[in-house]
Formats: sequence, structure tokens, C-alpha cells
Amino acid sequence: MDSDTLLVAGGRVLRPDGDVVDADVLIDRTAGRIEAVGSKLATEHDADETLDASGGLVMPGLVNAHTHVAMTLLRGYADDKPLDAWLREDIWPAEAALTAEDVRAGTELGLVEMIRSGTTTFADMYFHVPEIVEAVDEAGMRARVGHGVVTVGKDEAEARADVQESLDVAREYDGAADGRIRTAVMPHSLTTVDEDLLREAVTDAHDAGIPIHTHANETRDEVEPIVAERDERPLAYADDVGLLSDSDFLAHGVHVDESEIDLLAERGTAVVHCPASNMKLASGIAPVQKLLDAGVTVGLGTDGAASNNDLDLFDELRDAAMIGKLGADDASAVPAEAAVQMATQGGAEALSLPGGRVEAGAAADLAIIDLDAPHLAPAHDLVSHLAYAVRGSDVRHTVCDGQILMQDRELTTLDEKQVVETARRRAVDLVARAE
Ligand SMILES: [Zn+2]
Repeated sequence: MDSDTLLVAGGRVLRPDGDVVDADVLIDRTAGRIEAVGSKLATEHDADETLDASGGLVMPGLVNAHTHVAMTLLRGYADDKPLDAWLREDIWPAEAALTAEDVRAGTELGLVEMIRSGTTTFADMYFHVPEIVEAVDEAGMRARVGHGVVTVGKDEAEARADVQESLDVAREYDGAADGRIRTAVMPHSLTTVDEDLLREAVTDAHDAGIPIHTHANETRDEVEPIVAERDERPLAYADDVGLLSDSDFLAHGVHVDESEIDLLAERGTAVVHCPASNMKLASGIAPVQKLLDAGVTVGLGTDGAASNNDLDLFDELRDAAMIGKLGADDASAVPAEAAVQMATQGGAEALSLPGGRVEAGAAADLAIIDLDAPHLAPAHDLVSHLAYAVRGSDVRHTVCDGQILMQDRELTTLDEKQVVETARRRAVDLVARAE
């Protein structure tokens, strides 16, 4: 029997090497895979369905490699504070009032926003993971999800239960949604999880073949106590704990020194750069060009919507290219193609998930960008446009695992209007309970 095929026809295609060519993309929807990329596929193949990409650019679906999706409910709830005060005074108290239904509503809102801005794949660290898994399954996206563990301020039994939950959900949901969902064990950070429990969690996760995702070296306030207490850099501590394997990925990596960059490169541990969050919380500027030069895999993340305040990865692309130059004091640092690479292949590699490349055999995860907008004319260089001029609202279609999630800006898997209404209502109730 013939496979069920989708032809993305008439557009230009961003190839993995950064070249842009006129080509169609033939997708085997049964396998969720790209069958072929070529110039005459429309005449050669009688596809079951055709998606019009004329006047558009077909690129890999974007990868949001670090976020807390349900924090959309706290978008604009507390701004203009440093990380520690923002977490302790505003975010953690509000999160303590979150119900499973709230997390479901906030996650769905974030998924709608990501699909509308061309993101097909993400990593999520949060709680009420079963709700998140159901939402991702329904939305048709690809994700690596995990339960975030914080043990500070908890008694031994509570802390152990939190670690156990992270391990349990990681084991239970790995491979869910026809394999689109993978998992990780997610200690919140090196300073918010007790050392003994962190060691146990890392060992148990790796023994089960599950990666670790954590925040690391985000702010000076987080780095300095570790150095003072242990007389070693945070990533030396992380390495000692065993959490720098080549399947693990760290969010931020802002305050890393040369020895830590070398360690990341040696261990093959990926870093997820979150430039907007780092700017908004005045955390600092990650040395992204140095990480890339050392051969470290770097992805891009929005972080939670409360510190961004949106989930549009095109903003992140632009921010990464801009702040990378500012940080390096060099306008040639983090060039457009490097930023685009981080938002696609880099993110997919960091998460050890398929996607990030438009080529035969790759996962059929695509964003088709409409190039008709005035802010995209003229089009001397489309890679430049992706880094510096395209907005999430320019995405015309989004495809993940061969399934159309948005066609001509209409979502096909989620009821956008209802999702937004529900999230608005729940956010108001949540804030009222938290205050
Ligand atoms: Zn984060």
C-alpha cells in the first residue's frame, strides 16, 4: 500500500548547510518523515495532499529548547526585578497556587502561541507533567518534558517525594504521543536542590537512560555561593555530581569561565541560550560565540513567558544575534546563520530529538514563512531575514511529524479561541488566589 503523502509545493527551502533553493518537499505522513526535497516533485508525485508554499520559505520547525510553557498564565504578572527576588516574592507564591487544570490551560495557551510562531519542538520544565503530556499529544507537537525539582525549604520526606516524582514521570511518559514525547529528569538548579538528592537523581536518571536538564550558571548570585562554599566552579561541581553527560542539557550558561566552556565541550553537554530572559532579569550576557568556537552544542530558548514575555522564537533568534555581538564586542560574532542554526539544528541536537533539518530522512517538522510582508522586502538574503526581520506572525503553515498543525494561520489541532478564553479566566482566578 502507498504511504500517505503531503507535498509542500512551490516554495524556497532552507537546506541544512544554509543554502536556500527552489524546491518542493515530499513528506511521508505515515512515518512523519521527509521523503525527498527536490525541484520537480510536484510533477512527479501525486501526493494525497498539497500544502501551498509559493512565495514562502520552507524551514525546519523551530526548537524552543528551554521553557516553562504554563508560565504563560503569569505573563506580565511581575516584571522588572532580579531573578532571586522575582522568584521568591512573586513567581513561587503564584506557582504554589497552580492547579493541574491551570497548568493544562497555561500549557495549551503556550502551545497555541508556539505553533503560531513556527515552533514545532520544545523542552518543558514544570509540574503536573501528565497534563502537559496530554496537551502536547493533542496539539501534535514534539517535546522533551520533565518535572522540575526544588528541594530547598522542604523537609526530607517532601524533598524525596519531589525527586521521586521527577523520576516517575520521566519513566512513565518517555515515548508517549507515538514517540513525539521524550522526557528528562529536571532538578531546577545546582543551588535549589540538595547535593545528596541531586547525586541520587542524576545516577537514577542516567541508569534508566534518561537525560538531565537543569538551570546552570544563570546569575552571579547563583555562581558565587557555589564557588565560596566549594572552592570550585559550578560546572566542576555539576561534573562531579555526574550531570555533564552528552545527553544532558543546561539552560543559560551565562556566567561560565574558560575552564567550564572546555568542560562542556569535552563532555558534549549542550547549553540552551535564553537571551531575552537573561536581558530582562539582568542576568548577564552568555559567551555564545566562545561556546560555539569551542564546539559546544547551543540551542535557543525563550525560558518562561513571565521572563520574556512571549514564546516567539524569532524574537530569540534576533536577540541571540544582537546580544552575541554586544557580549563579544564584535559585530561579526553570532552571525545570522549561527543564530538560525541554534534555533533549529542546535536545539534539536541539544534535546536529542529529531528535526531541525529539511532533508530526506529527517523528521517532517517544518515552518513555512510568508515572505510577502513589507518588512521582508527586498529579500537579498533570506537567512539574514530569519535572524533579523522575520516575526512569528509571518509563519503561514506549521507542520510537525508530517501533520499540519497550522494552515494559512488557522490552527488545526487546538481550538485557539477556546484555549485563549480558558487561559484568561484561569489566570485571573490564579492571581486572586495567590494574593
Ligand atoms: Zn528557566
